[in-house]
This record gives sequence, structure tokens and C-alpha cells, in this order.
Amino acid sequence: MPELPEVEALALDLRGRLHGRAIAKVHIAAFSALKTFDPPLSALEGALVDEVTRHGKFLDIDASGTHLVLHLARAGWVRWRDEVPTIPPKPSNKSTLAVRVVLDDQSGLDITEAGTRKSLAMYVVRDPQDVPGIARLGPDPLSEEFTIDRLREILESEGRKQIKGVLRHQGTIAGIGNAYSDELLHAARMSPFKPSNSLDDTELQTLYDAIRTVLGDAVERSRGLAASELKSEKKSNLAVHGRTGEQCPVCGDIVREVSFADSSLQYCPTCQTGGKPLADRRMSKLLK
Ligand SMILES: [Zn+2]
Repeated sequence: MPELPEVEALALDLRGRLHGRAIAKVHIAAFSALKTFDPPLSALEGALVDEVTRHGKFLDIDASGTHLVLHLARAGWVRWRDEVPTIPPKPSNKSTLAVRVVLDDQSGLDITEAGTRKSLAMYVVRDPQDVPGIARLGPDPLSEEFTIDRLREILESEGRKQIKGVLRHQGTIAGIGNAYSDELLHAARMSPFKPSNSLDDTELQTLYDAIRTVLGDAVERSRGLAASELKSEKKSNLAVHGRTGEQCPVCGDIVREVSFADSSLQYCPTCQTGGKPLADRRMSKLLK
């Protein structure tokens, strides 16, 4: 799933490619993706693209005041095409194509979604704040308003909730998902199950620095990469996320996995939990 650094890089890449071009046509191949009806899709046609930006994990293409907003969710991606076919795509269960945006020079974007869980979402709105998921977003962790005091307030107000869940909740802090929450907790040497309001001043500073550094470095590395290069870039730089059974690059211990919410998380016991593996709650429930 693309998170803040990848969506930031996508926005930057698309800004360069789309600036000064007009949208000629938007084809929908997966109708479930389109979440709005007013303004109509046709409001985008003929509109000049002014800007491409990011709100949390949402991508926002501003076409002369009409916004095409995309949430790529779990398995969505954007593929740039120098030339798109002239024949409109047909809705098909076999194809991963969900939406095609054709530009005035016949170049364009294919927005795809792999897998069966269709959660890719597209909105056509006059104001990005009309998208409920954007209106609810917490502060952006790379923005100036995200100070250490702001982080302290957020963590205190979340009480005893596990820090992993708090970090990746979009209404609390925008843009951090399952992968980067694993990564920045590993960088901060902190247990993913640590209660949110239990950090002392040193731990708070360490976590704050980890958020800024891990996300900032990922954005730096992704800057200037094309959409097609971003996935492998992300994967090759992850220390623990998705690396169950591999060695921790910091201490050499084996990266472990435990179930969390609707998926799983990865962590290093030596770096993060005093050498003790976390109990898998789902497993222990099954064994009772
Ligand atoms: Zn380690």
C-alpha cells in the first residue's frame, strides 16, 4: 500500500507530467471505484491541470478547480503511459485497470487495482475537503504544525491505546500506514504495543525524531523516481516491515511477526521489546 512517501513522490512525478496538459477523457472500467456523482466526471474533460498534490495518502489532481482525488488503498497503483489506446477500455473482471485518464496529447494515466478486495476510491469534487477521508485527516507528520508538543498532545489524548494503532490511524496523524509505522517504531526502538500515553520525555523525543527521519528520508529517496520505480525502492529500504524471518539490519536478531488488527506487524525483539517476543493475541485466543 502506498503511504506518505510514495504518494508524495507520485504527486511530484505526476505534477511534472500533467502540468499544462488538459484532461481529454476519463474512462471508468471499475464503476465501484467512483464515489461521487456531483460534479459529474465530464466536468474534468477539457480542464487544464494546474497542480498535483497530496493529502495524507490521497492524491489530488486539480484540473482548473475540479479535483480528481484518488485513494489507492491496499493494492491500487498509478501507471504513466506515453500513449494510451484510442479505444475506451471495457469493464472486465480479468483486467486490473480501474480508471484511465486520457490527456490532450493522447498520453495518460492508468489507475489499476490488483487483487479481489476492491477498495480503490476515486472522487470528483470542487474542494478536496469534500472528501470525508480528507476532512477527517490528522496533521501531516512532515508539516510545520506537527511539533513535538503536538505529538505529545495526540499521544496523551489516545490514552492506553497501542502506539502502533495510533500512529497509523489517519484521523490522528495523516499518511502513516502499516509499513512505515513498523519502520519508525523499529527506528525508535519501541514496542508496537506500548501504551500511547506511557512515553517519558526521552522516548517522546526519540519517537518524534524517528517519525521525521524515517518519513523524511523515504521522501528524499523517492523524489525524482518515476511511479514504476517507487515500489521496489520502498521495499528495498524497509528494515523490518515485510521481513519476517530475516535478520534485523541493526542487531542481527530475527525479525518476528505478530497479528495486529486486520493484518500483521513486524518487529525486532532485541531492538524493540527487550528480547522478548510479543504474544500473538489471535493465536493465544485460538488455543484457549
Ligand atoms: Zn534489531
